[in-house]
Amino acid sequence: MVNTTDVVKQMKEYAEENNVPIMSDEGISYLTNYCIKNHVKSILEIGTAIGYSAILMASTSEDVEITTIERDEKRYLEAIKNVKKVGFEDRIDLIYKDALEVKKLNKKYDLIFIDAAKAQNIKFFEKFKVYLAPNGSIITDNMHFHGLVDQEEKNIESRNLRQLVRKIKDYKNFLVSNKEFKTEFKDIGDGIAISTKK
Ligand code: SAM
Repeated sequence: MVNTTDVVKQMKEYAEENNVPIMSDEGISYLTNYCIKNHVKSILEIGTAIGYSAILMASTSEDVEITTIERDEKRYLEAIKNVKKVGFEDRIDLIYKDALEVKKLNKKYDLIFIDAAKAQNIKFFEKFKVYLAPNGSIITDNMHFHGLVDQEEKNIESRNLRQLVRKIKDYKNFLVSNKEFKTEFKDIGDGIAISTKK
């Protein structure tokens, strides 16, 4: 087994070199502190990428267990390698699938972390909220989407990007007007939303 700090450093370098989006330092620091403060023991993550956030969340306590879903094969295989390197294979369950096609999960989770295709956030939320343990939270990253959500739409040149930004705004409105969950928005990293049952 290799030192976790070294593996995390290598993962950051790999992500940078291969254009793999991973959480910002500020975002991951908030997330791991959240896990510690709230005694989070079971986590469902949508969007593994190469396992960076999963490994750091699993490092918060020896009894944290994570189920994490990734649809990109290359990233999934890289995540398997990284999880093995740090010796967390008993605690991090990696699923190679489109999260929207995952059939049934057999657990409830203290934390559901949504960090996958931003345009699908409402679908992820609606699909996975049933797996939330009592008093659990759903955390979503990239609510600011690199500052673009707060920009005037006409200043965003690419049509695809404009559509994506619109979807993130729709998701924000969905959270704000949600009857079942209340949501706190934090200007941390790329913008984080923390939703808990009312
Ligand atoms: N949570 C990771 C971290 O901080 O280390 C970063 C995840 S990255 C921002 C988003 C990942 O979600 C990408 O690797 C992408 O392939 C994956 N993804 C996007 N849509 C997905 C879906 N519908 N099902 C599973 N994975 C998806």
